[in-house]
Amino acid sequence: MDIKVLKVGIVSCSGEALPEGTVSRVACRKVLGELRPGQTVTICLPLFIAGGKEEREFASKFPTITVDGCEKMCAAKSTEKLSGKPAKSLMIKEILKKHGISGLKQCRGLGHAEKIASDTVAEEVAKAVDEVLE
Ligand code: SF4
Repeated sequence: MDIKVLKVGIVSCSGEALPEGTVSRVACRKVLGELRPGQTVTICLPLFIAGGKEEREFASKFPTITVDGCEKMCAAKSTEKLSGKPAKSLMIKEILKKHGISGLKQCRGLGHAEKIASDTVAEEVAKAVDEVLE
């Protein structure tokens, strides 16, 4: 029997030291609140790592999409280690490179480049949600 998956867990990196960490959080928030509400839930990475039972249970039963700011891939690695391989692992730097976006500087708040980056990443995450739910 096929069970239709209705929700995807989004796990964003929580990086504060790189602009890409902020872009990741803002983009994921936009997906949850505007682009794919009802189809996505957020999984708090620090709580997930700290042993949040609900977070880990959700991630072991439902597909997850991880969004990481840099090559260290904290969200993807933690999710795989604690609950299972993510359905998709996205990396902000790769998305920005694909779209020719550069010049991110701000770690706090969004300047012009960071706003464009966040919107672009949000669209890519939303697309990934659609692919996982197909
Ligand atoms: S993936 Fe990179 S930016 Fe995100 S929390 Fe890890 S080290 Fe920080």
